[in-house]
Amino acid sequence: MTYATSLVCRECGNETPLDPVNACDFCFGPMEVTYDYDAMRGVVTRESISAGPRSIWRYEALLPVDPEHRIDLQVGFTPLLRADNLARELGMRELWIKNDTMNPTWSFKDRVVAVASSRARQFGFETLACASTGNLANSVAAHAARGGMRAVVFIPHDLEAGKVLGSAIYDPTIISVNGSYDDVNRLCSELADARHWAFVNINVRPYYAEGSRTLGYEVAEQLGWRKPDQCIVPMASGALFTKIYKGMSELADLGLIDDSPVRMYGAQAQGCSPIATAWQAGTTNIRPVKPSTIAKSLAIGNPADGYYALKVMEESGGGAVAVSDPEIVASMKLLAETEGVFAETAGGVTLASLRKGLADGLIDREASTVIFITGGGLKTTDAIANEITKPIEIEGSLQSFEEAFAAAGG
Ligand SMILES: *Cc1c(COP(=O)(O)O)cnc(C)c1O
Ligand SMILES: [Zn+2]
Repeated sequence: MTYATSLVCRECGNETPLDPVNACDFCFGPMEVTYDYDAMRGVVTRESISAGPRSIWRYEALLPVDPEHRIDLQVGFTPLLRADNLARELGMRELWIKNDTMNPTWSFKDRVVAVASSRARQFGFETLACASTGNLANSVAAHAARGGMRAVVFIPHDLEAGKVLGSAIYDPTIISVNGSYDDVNRLCSELADARHWAFVNINVRPYYAEGSRTLGYEVAEQLGWRKPDQCIVPMASGALFTKIYKGMSELADLGLIDDSPVRMYGAQAQGCSPIATAWQAGTTNIRPVKPSTIAKSLAIGNPADGYYALKVMEESGGGAVAVSDPEIVASMKLLAETEGVFAETAGGVTLASLRKGLADGLIDREASTVIFITGGGLKTTDAIANEITKPIEIEGSLQSFEEAFAAAGG
């Protein structure tokens, strides 16, 4: 069962029932789900969690959905891989990959959508919608199909073919907007007022955001119930970054893990780095940008949770790094060649940021480190199509093989 009790404004503390609203009636601050943690103590234990399903629903007490309303594609409980080859390459002692490419629609967005779509169904909505940079639309379309709901997804016109196809297969209504993600988001905010649709990242955003905490829970559980010393997380709106931190803090508050410090480092592409730029300038004043990068899943120029992400960096003693498009491509290749993990461009951003943070002395080589690889590579093949070694072409004869193989250097 869920222990969710109410929504609380992150700015003024105003408390309201669990309704489909995003902004505070008094101050327009963002609303956040809160839980009866006292009632969970002693009931929600390591044992009770371990006995649950191998999905995000093992943390059902900490998710704002009643079980009978779940739309369940068995999202989450993805592998945490010890990355010794990559660690050796980077001169690190203990490195882990949280491989969230292994979700039903190949990105971490399945976590947020599993929760938002289930809660939307509990609210009685019949249509799921979203403003998406690509992966979110894929997951909304899949969950709507599984939950017997209608889907209307809004995307910017310049998305990768793999991301468009990854929605279209579930047959949602796809609206391609001639503009950037920030234009799409503005349009959807207007539509959310006019239509009785559950926009997963707008009017039901408080429930959506909760799903990301499961990444923090899983990493702690998979490390044998402890926090790592540091995390590297890609940032678009910044919500994922803040919620991984929150998830680990909640487990410590519940007494399920030690409350050891964990430094949080945010990763962005230089072509869209409003949060990292503010961090480097030492300000909490985030200046919106016009995105231009191959990391389209992170291309949010006006990040809704940027301010809270900066607060987490400050509180945790972490920071932020921004990397170039060539660095992103090089790191997509390095991750694949050293550890067999094929990530999308966002994964390249994360690994490239780790490498840059190490080189600059910002990130500690000796500390136990988790990099969050949040999306699968077959959706962004354009980024690497010209960077990979082409097949050796031969006729079907031994001689042809021997000649071509030798010519290619054996
Ligand atoms: C959306 C997305 C993110 C970041 O999400 P935010 O919570 O908006 O910061 C990271 N990686 C991938 C692959 C994404 O699709
Ligand atoms: Zn408020």
